[in-house]
Amino acid sequence: MNTPSTATQPSAIAGLGLFAIRRFSAGERIAPYSGPLTSVQPSTPAASSPVYALEVSPGVWLDGSRVDNPSRHANHSCQPNAELVWQGETAGAWLIAFHAIETGSEITFDYGFSLAESLFHPCRCGAPECAGRIIASPLRPALRRHLRFSRPRD
Ligand SMILES: [Zn+2]
Repeated sequence: MNTPSTATQPSAIAGLGLFAIRRFSAGERIAPYSGPLTSVQPSTPAASSPVYALEVSPGVWLDGSRVDNPSRHANHSCQPNAELVWQGETAGAWLIAFHAIETGSEITFDYGFSLAESLFHPCRCGAPECAGRIIASPLRPALRRHLRFSRPRD
């Protein structure tokens, strides 16, 4: 049986989001993130362009932009409840629950953007620790320094 366990609905974060329509346990597969593999990076990080490309190994991207990949609607959060994991060519990529997720919750993961990419992508995830930009978790302290130094003085 292949009953969908997620649904696409309008999101408070951005556009459409991906929502759980049942409960998930920590570590459970939520939904596949599917698309063809390509050696050409599918999209550039321009302002307001959707980003659906997952680099699965150096120089190889999964293009998740197709309409038959509902997981492309999953938004970034600075405090995500899922992670996007490449599980090999047979299994493909999956959104995996970080912790238990209740029915109706929005599924979010860390887009893992670089500092340069983050400058084009403001974050409105609403998490208490939101960095204000979509940027990989390990880079957030660097972003905070950058924003502090570039902020005008009073
Ligand atoms: Zn955020």
